Amino acid sequence: METYQIIPVNVGDFLSMEKSNLTYGLDAGHKFVAPIIMYLVKGKDKLILVDTGAGDEEWAAKYHHPIRQSERQKPINALKEVGVDPEDIEIVVNTHLHWDHCFNNALFPKAKIYVQKKEMEYAINPLPCHYVYYESYHIGLYPQWLKSLDRIQAVEGDLNLLPGIDLVTIPGHTPGMQGVLVNTNDGKYLIASDCLGMFENWEGNQMYRHIPSGIHYSLPEYYKTFDKMEKICDFVLPGHDPKVFFKKVYPG
Ligand SMILES: [Zn+2]
Repeated sequence: METYQIIPVNVGDFLSMEKSNLTYGLDAGHKFVAPIIMYLVKGKDKLILVDTGAGDEEWAAKYHHPIRQSERQKPINALKEVGVDPEDIEIVVNTHLHWDHCFNNALFPKAKIYVQKKEMEYAINPLPCHYVYYESYHIGLYPQWLKSLDRIQAVEGDLNLLPGIDLVTIPGHTPGMQGVLVNTNDGKYLIASDCLGMFENWEGNQMYRHIPSGIHYSLPEYYKTFDKMEKICDFVLPGHDPKVFFKKVYPG
């Protein structure tokens, strides 16, 4: 079967991430610098970009939490550093439609964008406590993914995207959350995005086998997702863990 490599691309950092937002109820009050990550999946002749990062420093400070984003970390520059031009990207996958995962879809004009239909529906009318994550109309904002609506392919359920790459539904953090299951020389990697904010969510601790995010839509669905993940993947890649950058490429 076709194999791929996965390159994590750092496109900014939340300066003061509340850890319990990522690890349900654990380490409340502990703040850390959390990266915003796009994952580039490279095949023989295919380039897939998983998520497109957040808004810039000014935007983040105004509507969300302060981030740091150097010139090098701007999505286009960060991709250039790994030898990729935005025009080369034919496929974008949004794991979900939280602002820090889909803000820059418009920067990839040639790409078809894959999003779960369920996620689009929820993003338009989320629960009030989730308005800000979706930059909802309800609070006077405009969801940036709508700018590229004409290029979105709405997906319903699991989908074999390409030989060796599957989109898999992993609801819990959001209703239409999807992961990207990638075949590599070393086994199957699941780009799990915010389903696992950190590796710790998957590794668990003495009490819990796995740990959901503090930000979630459905905990019952979340635990079914954990069961599904155990069956389908060998390795996971999380949404906001600095440890992701201990390696430049996966497998590696
Ligand atoms: Zn999220």
